[in-house]
Parts: sequence; structure tokens; C-alpha cells
Amino acid sequence: MTPDTIRPDGKMIGMPASPGIVIGPVHLLLWEVPDVQQRIIPDEAIEEEIARFHNALQSAKDRLVQVKARAERHAGPEEASIFDVQIAILSDGELLSSVEKFIRRNIGAEKAFDLVLIEWRQNFARHTQPMIRERVGDLTDVHIRVLSILLGLPDHDPVDVPKGSNAILVTHDLTPSLTVQLDRDAIAAIATDEGTRTSHVAILARSLGLPAVVGLRDATRRVAGGDEVILDGSSGTLIPRPTPAQIDAYTDRAVREEADSVELQHLAGAEPVTLDGVRITLRANVDLPEEAEAAAHSGAEGVGLMRTEFLVVGRATMPDEEEQYRAYRRVVEAFEGKPVVIRTFDVGGDKLPVGGFPTEANPFLGWRAIRMCLDEPALFKAQLRALLRAAMHGDVRIMLPLVVTVDEVRQARHLLEEAAAELDDRGVDYRHDLPLGVMVETPAAAVAADTLVKDVAFFSIGTNDLVQYTLAVDRGNANLAARFTPLHPAVLRLIKRTVDVGHENGLEVSVCGEMASQPLMAFALIGLGVRQLSVAGRSVPLVKRIVRGVSARVATDAANAALARQTAREVEAELRRRLLAAFGDAPFLHDGLPEYVDGNTFEGLGGP
Ligand code: PEP
Ligand code: MG
Repeated sequence: MTPDTIRPDGKMIGMPASPGIVIGPVHLLLWEVPDVQQRIIPDEAIEEEIARFHNALQSAKDRLVQVKARAERHAGPEEASIFDVQIAILSDGELLSSVEKFIRRNIGAEKAFDLVLIEWRQNFARHTQPMIRERVGDLTDVHIRVLSILLGLPDHDPVDVPKGSNAILVTHDLTPSLTVQLDRDAIAAIATDEGTRTSHVAILARSLGLPAVVGLRDATRRVAGGDEVILDGSSGTLIPRPTPAQIDAYTDRAVREEADSVELQHLAGAEPVTLDGVRITLRANVDLPEEAEAAAHSGAEGVGLMRTEFLVVGRATMPDEEEQYRAYRRVVEAFEGKPVVIRTFDVGGDKLPVGGFPTEANPFLGWRAIRMCLDEPALFKAQLRALLRAAMHGDVRIMLPLVVTVDEVRQARHLLEEAAAELDDRGVDYRHDLPLGVMVETPAAAVAADTLVKDVAFFSIGTNDLVQYTLAVDRGNANLAARFTPLHPAVLRLIKRTVDVGHENGLEVSVCGEMASQPLMAFALIGLGVRQLSVAGRSVPLVKRIVRGVSARVATDAANAALARQTAREVEAELRRRLLAAFGDAPFLHDGLPEYVDGNTFEGLGGP
């Protein structure tokens, strides 16, 4: 059973993905292949229909030239070249003649085009060559674009939102190719039908500081383009066509949130020490190099996780060594000698370059992260060389994602040595002694943490994937969001085991998954013995407030009591009771907490 997303008062409840309140017009983005009805045309209309088809192709090409120019400005010429592929598809002789053949058999242009594209997409998807399979995404884009023109549907292209619109983008799911086109001067917030708090749309929205609600299921059917809505990213609420009273209430609340965040900024310089004197290291997660400076000013003591895949997501090509070196150096320099943990490419799952990857039945169990890197040594070594070079400018530490066996660490170390030798051959300066650590984000790594300790310099627990793989719950599936329970006793036990094994062997153990930024869960992590947390730059002051407001002894007692509970709900109740007793109640303590399967929500959620 899934909880209903619609309240009697018309409010829609989804997942709180990125905080902030925005009141503005909807920009509805329906990037889906429309339904096409069969239409028979008389013989005398055939030539006219073919001309109509050619006109539609020309309009689509004109549009793509515009889209390409925009992508060039946002992401650079290499990235924009993806649209050349689509322009070339529109000029393909075989495609044109196949469509014309159908029209000459009295089939309307839109159905003729639809039939040909369906067949082409199926053939491409089944092709033995990955390069061809990767073009399916381009064919789909062309399919949607031309059909929308032929059917006279509204142009939903995100290219069209004027700057300063303060628009709320409502869409089914945000794909990488749409993400590259997003104009942050036009789009003020995002609402999606799909996704959960830990899907990468949500993570990216938080990095960009764009308020977002995900997992609304059918928002795209419940609002129309231009409708005024209120989006509240802290409670995960979308209110279509609000009343003046609701607008006033949310405007007041936005003012209060702003005042609170100004107050929190004063904590940037304060020490993250618990009431009983335990020092917690707070570092920032950095997803885009552009965030580095702001993250450095958040009060973070370095970077606990730099996600390098966002250099790739939404692009047609991998960045070369030089481009990566510049990106890593920027982050390292912003943190002025503080530790910067850079994770090697975690591409795959829901973080894909434009055009995707070879189609897999289960991409989250598939060829991703360290697996892909080890199988593509040329690509991996370019990244390792860039990291070795960037380390000349600060304290760089390398982290491997999705490790399940020590063999992967050993192979990666071997490639790191080769990368260093290649730099020696070129006479390029670099640092040799970079610590090599791993993410503990699979049950295999956590249960067998002892098998890794001799080969790694540190552990960092990736709770987003650890929860996904432990509970067998897809982190991006909105229908399962209520079952994505980081406080499940199995997850807590795996975290505890990793912390204990790491500490017994003198390793640093941090947590860099989203759990670390949710106040109640941060409290639990401190209680489980975690002394290093890495959270989005914007969450650093909030987590610091928690650290400074609790005592580690109380947290330890709470975690021990929680570990003895049977269900995530019981764990949550146990922790909450103890945190509230220590801290008093405050609405922010509830931000980002899951909704349980029976639809009960926590008090404090849901807005005014
Ligand atoms: C995680 O899995 O917890 C993590 C931090 O990495 P990502 O969210 O990028 O998979
Ligand atoms: Mg992960």
C-alpha cells in the first residue's frame, strides 16, 4: 500500500528533497512520446501531407539549433554536440523515405512517423554495439519533438522559460539531458512525479540550492502550465492554485525560514563539539566544482565527498585529464589545505552520461562505479592522473565507490601506480602518497569490513546505497519511498559494525550519505560512534546546531536502546523521545524524515 499524495484541501504531499519555499507559476514539462491516433488520408492529400511532414522536420531542426546554442552556453561546445546527432537523424535519408512510404499508403504523417520511430528505437535498443544502443535516447528526443509539432501540441521545451520567471518546473522525472538545459535564472524550484530524497535529482537540487519536492506521483496531471502553486521543499508539499490565506501563511513562513538560516550562518565559525566535549568533524559534500567556494564558507572542515560523476552526467563525452585536473584543483584550493576526499567516478545507476549506458536489466546491480572504472582502465587512469596532479595543491584523498571486495582496492591501487608512472614519463609534477579509502555502501563491505582494513586508509559509509542494498529498496522509486527506512535495525547494525571495525584498526570512519544531514539520524550516528559527518554545504550549520545541542553520552544510550528495537518505526520513536528530551522540539528536527508504510506522518510535517 502506498500513502495517498493528495490531501482533502488539495495539498499534494511528496518527498521533501531540497528546502525552501517558492510561490510562482508552473512550467509543465511533459517530455514523453504522445499518443498518436491512426488517420487515413485520401490519395489527393498525399503530396500535401508529405510537405507537412517536411515542414515539421524543418521546424524541429530550427528548434534544435536554438537548443544547441543554449547548451553551448551552459555546458560548452563538446556537450552541445549531442544535438548534432539529433539534427543528423532528422536528415537521415532512410528514415525520411520510410515515413514517406507509409504516407503514400494513405497513413497520416504523425502515425507514419510514429511507426517508423517505434521500429527504429526497438532496433537500436537491441543492437549488439553499445555505441548504437546509446543513441536510443536521441531517437526518443527526436520522436517527441517531431510528433509534438505534427500534432500541434504545446512546446514543452525547457529552453523557453524567460529569465526572472521564478517558475516551478513540474515534470515526471528530471533526466540528465534536461538538467544541462535548466536555466537557474528562470527556474526557481522543481517538482517531480518520480524520485525520492536520495535520488540524484534531489541531491543535485540540494547542491544547486533549488527547493524541490519529488515523488509526487501525478503532479504533472494535476497542474497546468501557468497555474500558480506554492512549493515547500522542507515539508515536501505542493499546493496548486493556493488561496490568498495560504499565500500569506507561506510567505510568513518563508520569512521565518530565511531568518533562521541567517541565524544558522552565525554558527559557521563555532566548534562542532557536543555538550560533553566530544569533537565531531563536519565536512561538506560537493557535487559540482562551482559549489566549492560556498561550501568552504559553510564552516565545513574540508570535503568528505566530492561526487565526480556530475562532471559526466548530462554530457556526451567524458572529461579529459586536463579538465578534471582543473575541476579538482578548484575544490582543493577553495579548502586551503583541509582534507578533500574525492570519489572516483560512480557513473551508472541513475547517474548517466547523455545517451546512457549499455541497457541493463538492473542498472543498480549492474556495471557501475568501481566495476566500470576497473574495466575501462584508460578512462580510470585519466581520472587518477588528474587526482595525483591536483594533490599538489592540497590534501587530496581518493575514495572508491561501491566496493564489495578487497580485490577491487588492490586493482585500483595497481592502476594508481601505473597512473603515477605515466606522469613520471611525462615529467609532470604530482604527489605520491595519497590516502586511498573506500565507501562502505554495500552489505558486503560492511559485514566483511575486516577484510578491507589492511588495504585502505579510511571508510566512508554511503548510507544512501547501504539502505538501498540492505533493504532491497530502489532509492529512486517513489512508490517505495515509505519503505526506504535508514533507521531499520539492519542498517544501524551494519553502520555500527563498520564503525567498530574501522576504529579498532585505527581507520577514520565517516558517514557521507543523506542520513548524516537529517537531525534525528545525525544524533543516531553520533550515538553509534561516528565522529565524522559529511553533508551538503547548506546543511553544515544545521548539523552543527545538533552536535552542539546534544551530549555524546545521551546519543550513545539512545543508539544502544535503538539497536535493541525491532522495526524502523520503533527505532525512530526511541531516538525521537530521547532527542526531544535533550533538545526540546523544533520543526527542523523533523525535516527529511520518512513517512511509514501505513501512511502515518510525523507531527510537524505538512506546513501551516
Ligand atoms: C551514498 O550512497 O550514500 C553516497 C553518499 O553516494 P551516492 O549518493 O552518490 O550514491
Ligand atoms: Mg552511493
